[in-house]
Amino acid sequence: MDCIFCRIAAGEIPSATLYEDEDFRVILDLGPATRGHALILPKAHYRNLLEIPEELAGKAMILARKIVAAGKKALHCDGYNVVQNNGAAAGQTVFHFHMHLIPRYEGDQAGVTWKPGTLTEEEKQEITACMTEALR
Ligand code: 5GP
Ligand code: ZN
Repeated sequence: MDCIFCRIAAGEIPSATLYEDEDFRVILDLGPATRGHALILPKAHYRNLLEIPEELAGKAMILARKIVAAGKKALHCDGYNVVQNNGAAAGQTVFHFHMHLIPRYEGDQAGVTWKPGTLTEEEKQEITACMTEALR
């Protein structure tokens, strides 16, 4: 398997590394949405949120918090989006689990938003029923 993020995380391909520990490497995204857009990469290969072990997923979120705190201090941004895409339909293009940490600046034109739809009473009941069943 030839996975670019495995190679970057292992240090085989050089990257702008912000942070590294035994489980993760945090790098700057090569196609940043905004200044300071970073990616958390686990060093082990998992395709997505369903494959990464729970404990490591928890560590990734704790690390995200640390990067966001540092980014607010160092980059003087006004906010942060933490984004994690799963599946091509959701915009995932590299199939090695990663989290995007996107600093936001007042007035930036980064498009990390969606157009709000509507939730009908019928959908509310139908979705709540099937999801609570699946979560049981
Ligand atoms: P996805 O669309 O899968 O959620 O995000 C993949 C991200 O990886 C994109 O934002 C893209 O710019 C970034 N990316 C793809 N290849 C490379 C690379 O070789 N190096 C770095 N630093 N970022 C990459
Ligand atoms: Zn990989």
